[in-house]
Amino acid sequence: MTLEELDPVELARALIRCKSVTPAEGGALGLLERLLQPAGFACHRLTMGAPGTQPVENLYARLGSGAPHLCFAGHTDVVPAGEERAWTHPAFGAEIADGFLYGRGAVDMKGAIASFLAAALSYLKANGGSPRGSLSFLITGDEEGLAINGTQKVLAWLKARGEVLDACLVGEPTSREAIGDEIKIGRRGYVNARLVVYGKQGHSAYAERAENPIPKLARIIDRVCATPLDEGTAHFQPSSLQVTIISVPNTATNVIPGSAQANFNIRYNDLHTRADIEAWVGAQCAKAASEVGARFSLAYEGSGSVFLTQPGPLVKAFASAVFAVTGRPPALTTSGGTSDARFIKEMCPVVEAGLLNATAHQIDERVATQDLVMLTAIYRRFLEGYLGGQTDRGRPMTLNALG
Ligand SMILES: [Zn+2]
Repeated sequence: MTLEELDPVELARALIRCKSVTPAEGGALGLLERLLQPAGFACHRLTMGAPGTQPVENLYARLGSGAPHLCFAGHTDVVPAGEERAWTHPAFGAEIADGFLYGRGAVDMKGAIASFLAAALSYLKANGGSPRGSLSFLITGDEEGLAINGTQKVLAWLKARGEVLDACLVGEPTSREAIGDEIKIGRRGYVNARLVVYGKQGHSAYAERAENPIPKLARIIDRVCATPLDEGTAHFQPSSLQVTIISVPNTATNVIPGSAQANFNIRYNDLHTRADIEAWVGAQCAKAASEVGARFSLAYEGSGSVFLTQPGPLVKAFASAVFAVTGRPPALTTSGGTSDARFIKEMCPVVEAGLLNATAHQIDERVATQDLVMLTAIYRRFLEGYLGGQTDRGRPMTLNALG
């Protein structure tokens, strides 16, 4: 077993140079495996597939067999670069300029993977090479895509082997203005609804012989969007229904179309279940449709359920680590979109904490190199706080540093 201290900035650069746009592995998982194996981790490369999808590679690596079992979850796949010529520095070049490391995946989330791996190896080196309990990495190549052949399938594989995670940290970019200012302890649920209003197709010059569905659709949208779902809860912002698409199957200006469609994206908090939301949307549409005399149908697709990790040992240990390194406690939030935490929460408590999200998925995605160093320090303290062990200064870390 060899335990070399790793520079998180150099590791992040090496990962960014791996062109791992979903579903390509791009060498990124291989690179991690080559670093984890010599440190004693049992590595499993898991290629998952499903009919109608491209197979995706994943990596699961575990050190130790005891409890508690702490897992770091992340993804090495990235979204495409977009307009490559618009980048100030090449999207897969990993160049550093003015203290910033540029490249696709810098913050979402190769930088965080580099920081956690550097923190883990440093922690292991200071604690005789093995964690108290177990430490694992669950790294998927299918987070930014369909998320079918990634974390969800690896968790099922773990379950079949009888492996249990006791706590999980997901390295998504959750920080807003400064490293550690926000961590996520839950996420809103979401569901998409498709509303079709039916009319009767006809000549626009003989409108009395047709029935135009467009004004009716517009009035239903207006009424449904103007009705609040709730006012928010202790840990969640108010639920939100947004109309995102309006479409009419028509290209002729002198034809009244036979139908018109609107799509809603609903983000809901812990007052609701998906079934509640569907019932609410159905009732609102029915009420508005009866007021305007419209015939309609509703269908739902795609969803992720709402979840909240109640502040407990995991959240406390992470918040303590942030406080120890930055001098500020993090805000515990549940805003933003979904992540693989929605699958992991079925097995164990999960928190999400990583780099600044300001440039995620953008042209010129970048991370301050000092942020990588600071995140590594936070992850290092978190490992000591959660698994036990000595701090950098040889002082035992307790879960109660925040009082
Ligand atoms: Zn991500």
